[in-house]
Amino acid sequence: MLRVENQSLRTHYDILSVNEDASYDQIRENYKIAVLRSHPDKLCASPVPIHPTKNRQEIFLNVQKAWEVLSDPKSRQDYDDLLQASRNEAEVVDNEIKLGEMVVQVDGDGKELSYQCRCGDHFFISSVELQELGFSVKTSGASVILPCDSCSLKISVVIDVKDDLSMYF
Ligand SMILES: [Zn+2]
Repeated sequence: MLRVENQSLRTHYDILSVNEDASYDQIRENYKIAVLRSHPDKLCASPVPIHPTKNRQEIFLNVQKAWEVLSDPKSRQDYDDLLQASRNEAEVVDNEIKLGEMVVQVDGDGKELSYQCRCGDHFFISSVELQELGFSVKTSGASVILPCDSCSLKISVVIDVKDDLSMYF
């Protein structure tokens, strides 16, 4: 099956086929090549279309946008920071577990759910917190991200349709 490429996931660097530490000159060089290949007025310039299934106009606009951002040191720095931030966000989710994998303990009036982190400490959530987040015994197909008590890792707890949530409340 063909993998559908999500345009928004391609960085400006991907679009210009340069490394993220590329120099201004390298970026400019690749930009020129990319423009030649994708310019709507120069359909014949490239004997083999690089993206035959894609709209050239759209590619051209992406190339222009990438160049606009990466050719200016200030906007490139801002863009790099943004990329870094979005990656950090994605990387800290260490694991995805099912609600059923959490250890349930009765804690006063409610219940406390925990799961051991790689660092040795635990991810915790109480039934009260689950309720505050809008979860109920009828919830299905949702997930909640929990931070570790000690380190920067997070896990995503998936609540499956098959889970019997009554045992967690
Ligand atoms: Zn941890």
